[in-house]
Amino acid sequence: MTKEPITFSAIINGEKIQTDKKIPRENPTHPEQIVGYAPSNTKEETIQAIDAAYEAFKTWAWSDIDDRIERMNRAIQKIKDELPEIAELLSREHGKALYDAQGEIAISLMWMEFAVANVKKVTSPEDTTHEHGRTIITHDPMGVVSAITPWNYPISLSTIKIAPALLTGNTMVLKPSPLAPLAVSRVTEIIADEFPAGVLNLVNGDAEVGIELTSNPKIAKIAFTGGTNTAKHIMKAASDTIKNMTLELGGNDAAIVLEDFDVNDERALRRMVISNFLTAGQICMIAKRVYVHRSIYDAFVEKYIEAANKWIKVGDPFHPEVTVGPVNNKAQVNYVKSLVEEAQNKGAQIIPLGTILNPELMDNGYFLQPTLVLGADAHDNVVVEEQFGPTVPILPFDTEEEVINLHNESIYGLTSSVWGEEEHAIKVARRIEAGTTMINTAAVQGLDVHFPFGGVKQSGVGREYGLDGIKTYTETHVINLPTMKELPYIPE
Ligand code: NAD
Repeated sequence: MTKEPITFSAIINGEKIQTDKKIPRENPTHPEQIVGYAPSNTKEETIQAIDAAYEAFKTWAWSDIDDRIERMNRAIQKIKDELPEIAELLSREHGKALYDAQGEIAISLMWMEFAVANVKKVTSPEDTTHEHGRTIITHDPMGVVSAITPWNYPISLSTIKIAPALLTGNTMVLKPSPLAPLAVSRVTEIIADEFPAGVLNLVNGDAEVGIELTSNPKIAKIAFTGGTNTAKHIMKAASDTIKNMTLELGGNDAAIVLEDFDVNDERALRRMVISNFLTAGQICMIAKRVYVHRSIYDAFVEKYIEAANKWIKVGDPFHPEVTVGPVNNKAQVNYVKSLVEEAQNKGAQIIPLGTILNPELMDNGYFLQPTLVLGADAHDNVVVEEQFGPTVPILPFDTEEEVINLHNESIYGLTSSVWGEEEHAIKVARRIEAGTTMINTAAVQGLDVHFPFGGVKQSGVGREYGLDGIKTYTETHVINLPTMKELPYIPE
């Protein structure tokens, strides 16, 4: 669908600011079409946005919580009213199928509503009188938050930060990824319009803007979602001014299929396939390597291919039957291809999966036919690296000890899943090093915004979602009135 390109502005202190230099965003299905432009902001504009947020914080921090909730509820309603248009824009700029774009916005709204409903639970002061006197504990906002987000779930990974940060009295400068900056700009405009000038600011750009947002002394907290390597730069940039950080990073999530998994359970196999190929595999928490007990390996692979061929339909994201659209960008296409080719050159078998519904789009658009990799070595790159695309290796294992070691030797530990008889699966799950382990489901299907989400090891620091995902934007402040005002051991 060809449409006139749409141009977004930066938002600095409540003003929409146009720039001469712009970031074009192409349509991954038809790369010759520009979906729209985001501003390409400079370091100076980024500093203006930070200064605006810093000034706004002085009053916003002490604003009435009911007023904040009312404003957020109005924004939620406006996003709901505009959902079809926002989803359409997201799908065109990102490449994810329309149902998937709608789903992303639905998850974002679910979370925003949870944050609204629970912010008072997290921020209400505790005032207690006890045998040592009286203590008041408050949960205060931190200051200016830098939110830096990736391209794969631009709206949900931005609102996951915006809602709790603003509701708890912080101000923010958001920087989305240049690879999907448009729909999230519209969502940010809607939210920013409901809040006082300077509370929510939006800038675009890449490393130059990102570096300012992570090193400027006026930034109190960084909320980052993106790659592990980028996070290493961010930690260094932030170290001079010791900033609080939530880092949601890469993963190489494993699915472990035990010998008591029922290979004839078609619904379970469908869930497994979806957990590998939703959003063309471009999800941090997608199952990126599957280990199957050798006793059921052959039967599992046969049934998996059947299930994959049924569910995977590749083509135009707006085709009503399409489940898997193009990959978001050319670099990602080339990276995934190189991992698959490397495995093939080393002797692995590559099995194409699914049906191509729009063969005419495949060469020009950023499409990749989903593939299964069989016979890879446990330490091949296609197994140990985060592919972030539509390919998955399936490998056999013999013992639980072996598969738990293979899982835990990864530098990552975001989510994981164990498939089989429930109690057995829970037993194995207890030994897995990850932030979340799902039983008999995986990836977004097992995600629940009510519970904390985040990674261990190089998959991240801190948690989003759940009450933890609200609390992470507050500092605990103790106001103490001890009965014993002077310590007895200090001499007169
Ligand atoms: P990325 O790290 O390349 O970019 C993320 C953001 O950081 C972008 O906005 C980018 O412009 C910005 N950036 C780049 N250099 C910077 C710098 N030096 N300082 C500050 N900001 C900088 O990641 P990506 O390719 O957009 O996203 C894919 C990665 O994100 C994958 O590794 C994926 O697993 C991860 N991810 C993690 C989660 C999670 O919740 N754990 C969720 C989604 C994606």
